[in-house]
Amino acid sequence: MMRVSVFGATGSIGESTFDLLSRRDDIETVALTGGRNIARLAHQARSLSAQLVVTAYDDCYQDLKAALSGSGIEVAAGTQALIAAAERPADWVMSAIVGAAGLAPGFRALAQGATLALANKESLVTAGPLLMREAARQNARILPVDSEHSAVFQALTGEEISSVERVIITASGGPFRGWSKEQLASATLAQAGTHPTWAMGQRITIDSASLFNKALELIETREYFGFDPDQIEVIIHPQSIVHALVGFRDGALMAHLGAPDMRHAIGYALNWPDRAALPVARLDLARLAQLNFEAPDAERFPALRLAREVMEIRGHAGAAFNASKEIALDQFIAGHLGFLDMAELVERTIDILLSDSALADAIESLETVEAMDQIARDTATRLAKSMA
Ligand code: NDP
Repeated sequence: MMRVSVFGATGSIGESTFDLLSRRDDIETVALTGGRNIARLAHQARSLSAQLVVTAYDDCYQDLKAALSGSGIEVAAGTQALIAAAERPADWVMSAIVGAAGLAPGFRALAQGATLALANKESLVTAGPLLMREAARQNARILPVDSEHSAVFQALTGEEISSVERVIITASGGPFRGWSKEQLASATLAQAGTHPTWAMGQRITIDSASLFNKALELIETREYFGFDPDQIEVIIHPQSIVHALVGFRDGALMAHLGAPDMRHAIGYALNWPDRAALPVARLDLARLAQLNFEAPDAERFPALRLAREVMEIRGHAGAAFNASKEIALDQFIAGHLGFLDMAELVERTIDILLSDSALADAIESLETVEAMDQIARDTATRLAKSMA
C-alpha cells in the first residue's frame, strides 16, 4: 500500500487527484486538507477512508467535525494542524494548496522524507533553494505537477542536463490574447476568470490572464531544473496541446503533447517512474489540424519581464514577487485595482524592497522567507491603498 496525503484536496488539482486516487485500491490515505469547502472535504475523507482531515480555518472545525461524525476519522483545524498533518509519515504527498500558504506544509512533508508531488508552484518561486536542499538532504523526490514542468521533466528522461540548450514553456495566452492595452485596462473579473483551455481555480485562472502564472513558472523552471534564465523561453500557444519543449545542443527539440487535463501530470507523478493507464482524452491530431505559436508581448503583459528581474536579484526576491502578486490579485478580485494595476503594484513593491538589503540575501530558512513574504505583503497593501 502507498501512503498518500493531499494538501488542498478540495481545489481544482485536489479534485483531480481525488479522482485518480479513487480509482486505486493500493492507496492508504493518511491526511486530506482543505479550506472552506467542508462538504467536499468530508465526502472525500469518507470515500478514501482518510485517517486525518484538516481544514485550514479554525472557524470551520465544528462543521467538519459534524460532517464526519460517526466516521472515526480524526478532525483538526488551523495552520499548525496543517503542519502536523504534513509531519505524518506518508510516501507520496500532493502539494496543491493555492498560494504561499502551501510552502510550509510541503516543506514539512519533504523533511519527513515523502515524495512531494508539487502543484504549488509558489513553493519553488518563494523558496526554491530551500526546498531543493531539503529534498537532497532527505534523499526525497520533488516531482513537478505543473503541466509545463511535468512535460520538461518527461522530455529530459534519460538525457544529460548538460546537453540541454534551451527550454520552452508554453502559455495559452489566456482570454486577453490580442487585446489592446486600453482594453486590458478595463478588463473585468468575470472576463479574467474565464480560461480558454484549462479549467482551474479562480486565482491561477486570473494569473493566467495577466501572464503572472507564466511568470511564476519561469522562476519555477529555473529553481527546479537549474537552467540559466536565458535558457528558458516562453511561447504563446493558444491550443494548450504542447506543454513544453526541450532543445538539445544537436538542434533537436523534444515536445510534450497532451490534452489539457491535469490528471495527466498528476497521474505521471503518482505512478512515476512507471507509466500507468490514465483516464485522459487521447489527441486526435487530424481533428486538431493545426498548432499555433507566437511570441508573448512584454509591453502589454509586463509579468514576464518582472520575473526575469526577480531571477537576476535572486535571494528573497521570489518571495517578495509572489507575495505582492497575491496582494495585487486580492485587490483586483475585491474591485479595488484594475487589471493592469496588478503588474504596476508588483513592480513598485519590488522597487521599494530593493533598498532592503534582505531582498537579495541568500535564503537561509523558512523563517527568512516568511519574513520577506510579510514585508512584501505589508508594502504592497500600503501601496495598493494609494493606487485605489
Ligand atoms: P484552488 O483554488 O482550486 O484550490 C486551492 C486549495 O487550497 C483548496 O483546497 C482550498 O480550500 C485550499 N486553500 C485555499 N487557501 C488556503 C489556505 N490559506 N490554507 C490552506 N488551504 C487553502 O487552486 P488550484 O487547485 O487551481 O491550484 C492549486 C495549486 O496548484 C496552485 O499553486 C496553482 O498554481 C497550482 N496549479 C494549478 C493548476 C490547475 O490546473 N488548477 C495547474 C498547475 C498548477 P477550499 O477550496 O476548501 O477553501
